[in-house]
Amino acid sequence: MKILHSVRSVQKLTSQIRSEGKVIGFVPTMGYLHEGHLSLMRTARKKCNYLFVSIFVNPTQFGPNEDFSKYPRDFRRDRLLCEKEKVDFIFFPDSEKMYPENYSTYVEVHNITEILEGSHRPRHFRGVATIVLKLFNIIQPDFAVFGQKDAQQVAVIRKMVSDLNVNTKIIVNPTVREEDGLAMSSRNVYLNGKQRKDASVLYKALKYAERKILTPGYNRDLGFIKEQMGKLIKSRPTVTGVDYISFNREDNLQEVTSLKNFKKGRLLISLAVRFGKIRLIDNIVVSVNL
Ligand code: AMP
Repeated sequence: MKILHSVRSVQKLTSQIRSEGKVIGFVPTMGYLHEGHLSLMRTARKKCNYLFVSIFVNPTQFGPNEDFSKYPRDFRRDRLLCEKEKVDFIFFPDSEKMYPENYSTYVEVHNITEILEGSHRPRHFRGVATIVLKLFNIIQPDFAVFGQKDAQQVAVIRKMVSDLNVNTKIIVNPTVREEDGLAMSSRNVYLNGKQRKDASVLYKALKYAERKILTPGYNRDLGFIKEQMGKLIKSRPTVTGVDYISFNREDNLQEVTSLKNFKKGRLLISLAVRFGKIRLIDNIVVSVNL
C-alpha cells in the first residue's frame, strides 16, 4: 500500500492505470475509519484492480460553527485499517494543496440541496459536491462507493454525476450499525455514556415508522407517525433538539406528506437529532406498495 500526497503524482499514476485497461475503485472518506467505511472498501475491493481511498477532512463542507477543527483524526490507525482491507493507495492530501489561496470554483447542485441537511447546513453540499468532483478528477475512478448513511449526499452526488456527465459509476452500500442500531459514525466518539445510550432511539424511531407504514390496519398518517417519532426521541433525557424528521422520495428527495400521494416506491425516512453539541443523522428506506 502506498500513501500519496500530491495531486500530480496521483493523476499521472491513474492515467497510466487507465491506459492499461485496469479498473480503479474509489472510496472517499474523512478518515477516523470505522466498520461503515471498511464495508465500502470491501465492496470496492471485489470490483476493481486498484483500490484508492482518500482521507481528507474537507473544510468547505463544514459551517463556521461546526466541528472542523475538532473532527477526530488518527492517520496511523486509518493506515493500518486500510492495509488490512488491501487498499492499494491512500490519497492523503494537504488542505493547502486542495484549496490553494486563490481557490474560487465550487459545484452547486440546486433543488435537492436546500432541504433536509441543507436547510440546517447551508453550504454543506456545495462543499461536498466540490470535493467529490475534485477527487474524481484527480483519481479518475471507474466507480466510487458511498454509504446509505448519508442518503442526501448520495442523491446530490448522483445528480451531479448525471448533470455534469462524470464518467464514474456510483455504488451505494447499506448503513452499518452498532448492535443497538446506532449507525456507525466518526462523530459517535463525541458522545458521553448517557448520550451514547440514548442515541439508539434514532434507529428505534425509524423502525417504528417503517412498521407503521408497512403493517396493514395501522395508522398510516405520516403527520401522526412523525409526531410519535418526535415524542419517542424527545423522551430520551440527553436529546436537546430534533432538527427534522422527514419523509421523501428516495430518488429526487421530493417531500412526501401523505401516503395517499405515494402508493408505490422507495420512501426515505430521515432525521437529524442533537445531543448537546453533537448532531447525529440517520435514515432508512422503506419500499412502499399499498
Ligand atoms: P465520512 O468519512 O463520514 O465522510 O464518510 C465516508 C463514507 O462512508 C461516506 O460515503 C459515508 O456515507 C460512508 N459511511 C459513513 N458511515 C457509514 C455507515 N455507518 N455505514 C455505511 N457507510 C457509512
